[in-house]
Parts: sequence; structure tokens; C-alpha cells
Amino acid sequence: MDLISRTRAAVWHPCTQMKELDAVPPLAVARGEGAWLIDTDGRRYLDAISSWWVNLFGHCNPRINAAISDQLTKIEHVMLAGATHAPVVELSERLGRLTGLGHAFYASDGASATEIALKMSAHYWRNTGKPGKNGFISLQNGYHGETVGALSVTDIPLFKATYEALLRPTVQVPTPDARLAEPGESAEAWALRCADVLDAHLAEHAAATAALILEPLVQGAAGMAMYHPAYLTRARELCDQYEVHLIADEIAVGFGRTGTMFAFEQACASLPQAGERGQSGALRAQTGSIRPDFICLSKGLTGGYLPLSVVLTTDEIYAAFYGDATARGFLHSHSYTGNPLACRAAAAVLDIFEHDKVIAANRIKAIEFTKLLDEVRAHRRVRHFRHLGMIWAFDVADAGPAFATRFHHAALARGVFIRPIGHTVYVMPPYIVDAGAMRLLADALLACLGEAGV
Ligand SMILES: *Cc1c(COP(=O)(O)O)cnc(C)c1O
Repeated sequence: MDLISRTRAAVWHPCTQMKELDAVPPLAVARGEGAWLIDTDGRRYLDAISSWWVNLFGHCNPRINAAISDQLTKIEHVMLAGATHAPVVELSERLGRLTGLGHAFYASDGASATEIALKMSAHYWRNTGKPGKNGFISLQNGYHGETVGALSVTDIPLFKATYEALLRPTVQVPTPDARLAEPGESAEAWALRCADVLDAHLAEHAAATAALILEPLVQGAAGMAMYHPAYLTRARELCDQYEVHLIADEIAVGFGRTGTMFAFEQACASLPQAGERGQSGALRAQTGSIRPDFICLSKGLTGGYLPLSVVLTTDEIYAAFYGDATARGFLHSHSYTGNPLACRAAAAVLDIFEHDKVIAANRIKAIEFTKLLDEVRAHRRVRHFRHLGMIWAFDVADAGPAFATRFHHAALARGVFIRPIGHTVYVMPPYIVDAGAMRLLADALLACLGEAGV
């Protein structure tokens, strides 16, 4: 039996109606090489969405491979309760310096990081004598993972509705998604109007609210919805004012995706006064960014190599758990917490960022690729073309119900692996894409848009 038949028979694929696999076989990948996936017949496909947004520096990256191989000769895994090791200590120190948040708690995937941040936030309020602060607010169309707690703060009906009976009620406030601004309204003005709704909600419910969780700047699973950083600035101010934690879910946008190492860095610590706001909606020169109370990281953390996630938080929150009573501590755990191989991969990723000055290099790459997309942006079917850092997205007009599948297939035929979300096409390439790959990708997008039946 071939691999496709065997996978249908034995593997239950994620986020998939398995019956559809009969008509749409998965790509049988034999190898990876840089930004390319190579199937069992030797055909090459550009991994234009970085294998669900996790891959930063390509498949089989020699430097990450070397770090993991080296670690394999030392210790592959040891439990992190009652033991520690250099890879987890070094990674925690480095992430602490990068985020300004001093303590790192590890898990294995993004959804678990969400669970940890939610539990830690509510537990903090309990430890500080406010057990009633245990509710959560998230943004409309937000995505924070699929486990029951994470799904409770997720707002994507396709993933959530079926399990509604299992979930804890949470509150969703309007999304600052710039596409929803009134005609003639700036993205910033719309973001601030949305923040007013958050203000009104907190004014009434802060005493029952532990935290606001959001994806800074880009709501990925909603279809790469982008919004103005003024929302984050205002959310930070409101969370301070009403004593509510701000959880930055940077699982997708962390590690340079939005053009800065972390997306929250693009939100200034304070907004200009009303009169100072420019016509263009541009903010006053940055005077230091906001800092969330918790940041959740995963996806790019290991460069797409191994499942690892982390929640970083402030010394103040950490201190509220520190004491003589065991139950005051955060007794959450996962068997593979702080896995040494994964931590070494993550450290190798940070080395590459530093050594290759990746953030600066990406800035130039992004300008070049945006230029290559001129014709796509101008295409008659393209709406709301948007770009931030190493993410590009647009909505497609006249898209039928099976648009995503048809576009996926048309792109595969042109050597590009891409999976639209509904009628939104997005590109999130590994940072190592070269000029030739970007050209191929731009040409493929344009050709697929024009193809009959797509
Ligand atoms: C992918 C994602 C998650 C969930 O991460 P998993 O590793 O898939 O559990 C949570 N939040 C955001 C913003 C994500 O993009």
C-alpha cells in the first residue's frame, strides 16, 4: 500500500474532515531542504506558510541540526520537577532578557501555554486575596488553541461551536481588525473605538475579570486580520487602570513575524493626546513599548523543529506564588516540560537571530517581496491586501465555497504549498526564502488568481 492509503487508514489528521482526504490527498513529504518540501516522487514545493507558521530558518537547517545532535550525546530528556539542566536555564535567561519578563514556565504546545497563562492569572488573583477575579476577556475572532480552556477564549465558530457545552463562558470584545473600519475611518481611529468598548466592559466587570488575552497586531487563524498598535497601547492602559492582566498570545506572531522580535514591541507605552494624533494616523516617535503581564510563545520558538512552548511573566506575578504553602505554588506540569533537545533547538534559533541580524535582513526581504506582489495587489479579485513584517495576506472576491481547496491545488501544481483560510490567501514564508523562491511564489499567486475555476 502506498503512503496515502496507509495514512488514510491509520492516521487521524488534524483540522481535517477525513472523508475529504479521499478527494484531496495530503502531500506525502519525504524530505525537507531549506524552504522546500520534497515529496515521495521527488517533486519540490515551496513551503510558503512555514508548515503552519512554525518554520523560521528552513527544513534540515544545519545549525539547528548540529545543536540537537550535540544535545543528543548529553541528555535527551529529564523531568524538570526536582531536576534542571543547562539548556533550559540558558534559554530562560535569554528569553527573559528579550521579553523583559523574568520567569519562564514551559509546556509542549501553544494551547498548553494558553492554559498556563489563564491558570496563572486566576491563581495570582486568588493568591493576592481576589479569588473573584477569574473571568477572561478575549477579542472577537481571536484564536488561542483547541484544548478546552484555550477554546473557551477562542472565538472561531467552526472550531468552537461543537464543543460549546464543554466550555467556560468568556467575554469577547470587538476586534480592531482594520478591515472593519467605517469608510474613511483610519485603522487607528477604529482601534481606539474598539478600545472604548473594552473600557466600558472593564468599568463594569473588572472585579470578576482576571485577564484580557489577545494576539498582538495579527489575528492569525481569523485569516491574518491586522490591526493598529494603538489598540495594544490602550489595552495596556486599561488593564493597568482596572487591575486586569494583559496576556500577549505571541504563539504565532513572536520571533520576528511582524517585523520586530515580538509584536508587542510595536505598541508605544503611551498614546499621544487627542490633538497630537496625526492625520495619517501615525503615532508619535516610539518612546518605549508596552510590556504584557504574560507572553505565550511557541510555533517559531524551536524554528519549527520540536514541540515547545513557554509562558513568561513578571517578577511581581512570580512573587505572588512564592511562599511556604505548597498550594500557593503553581502546581501545573507536563511530562516533557523544558525538554533539553527542544531548548537547544530554541537556543540555536536565537543564535541565528543574533548572528545573522535576521530582523534587519527581513526588513529588506519584505520590501523586495512586497514589490514582487504589486500585480497581485492590483488584481481585480484582490481585496484588503495587507502586509506586516513577514506576513502577507489578501481576501479574494468571487470565491466559491471550495475556494481554499481549489487554490491549494492550483498552487501545488505550480510548486507552492499554501493553504488559504476561507477566502483569505496568506503567505508566511520561512525567513530564508531567496529571491528566486519569492519570484516563483509571486508568479504562482498571480497565476492561481487568474486560473479558471479557482
Ligand atoms: C497556533 C496558535 C495557538 C495554538 O498552538 P498549538 O501549538 O497549535 O496548540 C495558540 N494561539 C495562537 C495565536 C496560535 O496561532
